[in-house]
Amino acid sequence: MAKEDRISLTLKCTECGEENYLTSKNKKKHTERLELKKYCPRCKKATLHREKKK
Ligand SMILES: [Zn+2]
Repeated sequence: MAKEDRISLTLKCTECGEENYLTSKNKKKHTERLELKKYCPRCKKATLHREKKK
């Protein structure tokens, strides 16, 4: 069985700071900080979300 290198993290809205999404990534394949455009319910629009490690 392959060894798992996944870590869980929170995606946080860069505009209001709300933590909207839980996700995970392979820390060996993706060493850079994740940034994704996601819908933020507080901003009521798609904003840039950035990972925040737990
Ligand atoms: Zn927001």
